Amino acid sequence: MIDGSILIGAEARQSDTRFTSVDPATGEALQPAFSSAGAEAVDAACALAEAAFPAYAAITPERRGAFLDTAAQAILDIGDELIVRAMQETGLPRARLEGERARTVGQLRLFASVVRQGDWLDATIDPALPDRQPLPRPDLRRMNLPLGPVAVFGASNFPLAFSVAGGDTASALAAGCPVVVKGHPAHPGTGELVARAIAAAVASSGLPAGVFSYLPGETNALGGTLVADPRINAVGFTGSRGGGLALVRIAAARAEPIPVYAEMSSINPVILFPAALAARGPALATSFVASLTMGAGQFCTNPGLVIGLDGPDLDAFVAAAGQALQGTGSATMLTPGIHAAFEKGVGALAGHDAVRTVARGGPGDGANQAVGALFETSAEQFLADSALGNEVFGSSSIVVRCRDTAELAKVVAGLEGQLTATIQIDPADEAAAAEILPLLARRVGRILANGWPTGVEVAHAMVHGGPFPATSDSRTTSVGSKAIERFLRPVCFQNLPASLIPAAIGDANEWGIARRIDGQREESPN
Ligand code: NAP
Repeated sequence: MIDGSILIGAEARQSDTRFTSVDPATGEALQPAFSSAGAEAVDAACALAEAAFPAYAAITPERRGAFLDTAAQAILDIGDELIVRAMQETGLPRARLEGERARTVGQLRLFASVVRQGDWLDATIDPALPDRQPLPRPDLRRMNLPLGPVAVFGASNFPLAFSVAGGDTASALAAGCPVVVKGHPAHPGTGELVARAIAAAVASSGLPAGVFSYLPGETNALGGTLVADPRINAVGFTGSRGGGLALVRIAAARAEPIPVYAEMSSINPVILFPAALAARGPALATSFVASLTMGAGQFCTNPGLVIGLDGPDLDAFVAAAGQALQGTGSATMLTPGIHAAFEKGVGALAGHDAVRTVARGGPGDGANQAVGALFETSAEQFLADSALGNEVFGSSSIVVRCRDTAELAKVVAGLEGQLTATIQIDPADEAAAAEILPLLARRVGRILANGWPTGVEVAHAMVHGGPFPATSDSRTTSVGSKAIERFLRPVCFQNLPASLIPAAIGDANEWGIARRIDGQREESPN
């Protein structure tokens, strides 16, 4: 059911201030109108989250895992209504949204298994050494504990997998943190359906209602008030650089500053090494254009920059990519605002003296259409004007021609932080790639060979992060099981009597988890 409610735990509230979402394919407003949460709702949600925290933090891994599995099933149980509403609100096709729902549910289930397994607790025991000389060693026991209530901001481009029950929510709930979601105004109906499913899972799992609240709204003030609330202990965000930085500033200015894990902008460089380019330039061009235009290019991992050595092989690649792009159709973008930003970014590159427009995609039909764009420039010009490296969110990319490997290395070293970098290599390129690899590793969170950056596997080894501005904290990831660490902190218990030692680090190992004892890894008894 969608009725435009604010969800404060189990309680559905309405407000007088309303907003509507827009079908980007037609530009028409969708019904119903949604309540805009105000300061009172933020206060109520944060109070409830804080009240729920001690009990939620203390439940066993088994119970928390079962709750995450229940939440996953509740999302599936919404059925087709969720897919239909998400299609209307985002312009994304059915197959993409069904895949995204599977990813969202899979993500919750992955975290359920991670929680049960217990490695995230990092249970570590250094037993007392009473006879050690010259001083005895105390009994030291360390484990990770959840930070407290977390605020989550979803992105417009993944209305399921990076939104209300997306990776930030799943990882925070897995860590034992209650979550207050600021709903994205571009997909409030989709958001409400998922929020109701999570709230129902909280209730049916017998957990305190404040474990999850949902605040729809369309003002910056709402998000700012939430991040400023003293009961919020950390923030997960995916979206624009401006939005992420605004929240980082608010969090830093609080009486008690808190971490903000903001995933923001990235242009995901692709480096074409000479042997690979010579051997398969036209094939690379075709697969590059497929990655560039997928989903109207509205992926944080979209390949927005291609770097190669100037010469006939790069000429052939650029010509083939231009031809492939001309053969693509346009696609509806997520919101009129994102479409306007795309047009502005493409217009700036097209009008730049040092940039040549290689090709545009096929003409658009309908509202808010992304018509793909491919540009080229020289490394010299690219290095001279940092604006050429700005993210243009959508299917736009620029090829940078380098005179030699030294200039290519200079371009790579000058890049801003990125989520990904891709190298296209053949065996003969490996020595040259080895030279560039350390430079790339310094700038990015994930390096991939002979593929394309779009498509992020939700797995244990995944890193979806990177130095600024890809994210506000490069030490972690927003996709994959490692994301749970963002919402935990280590606490050491020294010389506590057995009755006060938490189960995870007690002598009996009641939770049956793997632990490190006196420096040695002890496997789980299970
Ligand atoms: P966005 O405009 O940054 O919005 C994300 C969320 O943050 C929304 O809930 C928004 O709600 C809130 N917000 C934005 N600015 C705020 C501020 N100054 N203070 C408080 N809250 C704020 O991102 P988007 O709508 O998803 O996409 C817009 C742009 O983000 C794209 O053009 C693209 O450049 C970038 N983007 C990047 C990624 C990525 O993964 N790197 C993904 C998607 C989008 P309110 O507007 O209601 O405040």
